[in-house]
Amino acid sequence: MENCVFCQRDNLIIVAENKLAIAFYDGCPVNEGHILITPKRHVETYFDTSLEEHTAMVELIFKTKEYLQLKYEPDGFNIGSNVGLAAGQTVFHFHIHVIPRYSGDVPDPRGGVRKVIPHRGSELKSSGKNNLH
Ligand SMILES: [Zn+2]
Repeated sequence: MENCVFCQRDNLIIVAENKLAIAFYDGCPVNEGHILITPKRHVETYFDTSLEEHTAMVELIFKTKEYLQLKYEPDGFNIGSNVGLAAGQTVFHFHIHVIPRYSGDVPDPRGGVRKVIPHRGSELKSSGKNNLH
């Protein structure tokens, strides 16, 4: 797509690539080694990709993990995607964040991606057997 930064691929520092997907450094990293993985085809969200594209992206998640482990020696990872404006998506070319985590990078990392809604990560208590956490 013409105006899509991920389709244009200008100034992307690519760390891994296969037939259907690429992995590159996030331009505004939240932690050292923050990588984005995208399908080469322009699709808006997670739910617009084909199974083949998902498989290609998963392969790059594993390759990226190996690359990051050797280069930065992180202690953990957060892996995730924002789907839609309400979930915080700002670039509408589907991408998966692979964010290396380092012991002590935040005071209390417990809950990880559960904390994407500030102050809710640990405050909503289990209400019973329908709670899938
Ligand atoms: Zn695009």
